[in-house]
Amino acid sequence: MEKIPELQYTPADSIPGIVDGLRATFHSQKTRPVEFRLKQLRKLYWGLKDNEQLVVDACKKDLGKSGFETYLTELGWVLNDIVFVCGKLEEWAADESAPDIALMNKPLAPKIRKEPLGCVLVIGAYNFPIQLSIGPLIGAIAAGCTAVLKPSENAPAAAYAMEKIMQESLDTTAYTTVQGGVPESTALLDQKWDKIFYTGGVGVGTIIAKKAAETLTPVTLELGGKNPAIVARHADPRLAARRLLWAKLHNAGQVCVSQNYILVDAAVLPALVAELRNAFDEFFPDGARNSPDYGRIVNARQFQRLKRMLDESAGKILLGGTMDEDELFLEPTVVQVDSPQDSLIAEESFGPIIPLLPFDDLDEAIRIANRVHDTPLGVYPFGNAQETSRVLDRTRSGGASINDGFFHASIPTLAFGGVGSSGQGAYRGRASFDVFSHRRSVTSTPAWMEPLLGVRYPPYTARKARD
Ligand code: NAD
Repeated sequence: MEKIPELQYTPADSIPGIVDGLRATFHSQKTRPVEFRLKQLRKLYWGLKDNEQLVVDACKKDLGKSGFETYLTELGWVLNDIVFVCGKLEEWAADESAPDIALMNKPLAPKIRKEPLGCVLVIGAYNFPIQLSIGPLIGAIAAGCTAVLKPSENAPAAAYAMEKIMQESLDTTAYTTVQGGVPESTALLDQKWDKIFYTGGVGVGTIIAKKAAETLTPVTLELGGKNPAIVARHADPRLAARRLLWAKLHNAGQVCVSQNYILVDAAVLPALVAELRNAFDEFFPDGARNSPDYGRIVNARQFQRLKRMLDESAGKILLGGTMDEDELFLEPTVVQVDSPQDSLIAEESFGPIIPLLPFDDLDEAIRIANRVHDTPLGVYPFGNAQETSRVLDRTRSGGASINDGFFHASIPTLAFGGVGSSGQGAYRGRASFDVFSHRRSVTSTPAWMEPLLGVRYPPYTARKARD
């Protein structure tokens, strides 16, 4: 493994100067030409490719991520996004004519120009440190913005890797990293931005939205949620068990969009538990602890929080439950609880804990899910078509995967985002370009139209009113 140096925080008093520099670059028009943006995106692509091993090592160091997971949901993810965006950028950036215009308005050539919002701030989270930072940055570059990326200090090796890659491959007068924790983030929020794109928890999201409101700065917030999986009477227990276990062991459960809890039809509960056990043994023949495929909790603070949640729960552990703080290891743990007020359902675990709450009637399960969080990031119904439609029709959420755990998030052309308190705004694919763009409506009135337009000038005589 490559030796990764300790992350150096950016001096907070240098932040205003950094932002002034990026703003000056934006106003110099340097980042406007589409060719410039494409060149930067291609350089970013190759910067990531050249540092693949560093990224894999960094994600291993920060989160114990396997190389496979890092390729799947960090490196491969953003490389794919860059290729897709590069292929579409000219089309997206082109002017759009106004649709359905009346004949008399055609000479005005009404159109929408896609303009970059300006100088933007991207704040990333620790759990997918590369994807959640570079992903939005791709959109900012594509739209023609200049940008500061503030990676999560809780994934310091990945933060270092991104700083190195950006410094080596991008135009540093237009795109840079600021490293640090709360003081540095606070200094960043004291600057004027044209957009703040934040991924993380609801608490900090609220701080950011309040601060941004002082200067009417637009925000995109990608937040957390208490996502339900609902396993209905006609669900296939083996399929549900394998898919939902995977969704909670991926990144050791530190996935904003994976299910926080499972509501399961009481008639299916025994089969689901048996199949969770089978799936567990198939995925980890030598146990999760010895598996090179299973990650670790990011730090001691998060480990303690998860341990406390388990301690406070009145539930019964059915599977897993072993832990080792020195290693930050927490086994995927299935717990049967008897109330939606149980700490494991009432709080977002953001870890490898799978609470199961049995229900007798699907409508009752839907009511519970809506009471726990009426706008989660994801909803995951398992069952036949009638059951899954019933769940979708009677709930709200940022996205949903039918008969799967968070698979909708893997489609690069599907916009990803929350709704209500799980977030506002979306990105990925075309949405990544749109989220950092302003659609500027423009008309151009030819001089020869003056005789036709004379009617709009006063005095508004009776004859004009008739005409
Ligand atoms: P985190 O600790 O990595 O923090 C996120 C970012 O917020 C970091 O860059 C951090 O420096 C910054 N931050 C912390 N305090 C701040 C402050 N006072 N002012 C400004 N910035 C500050 O991650 P977290 O918040 O613990 O992340 C976990 C949460 O994020 C979970 O709730 C999860 O569901 C959510 N999440 C959402 C998504 C999504 O796409 N919707 C993705 C990942 C995580």
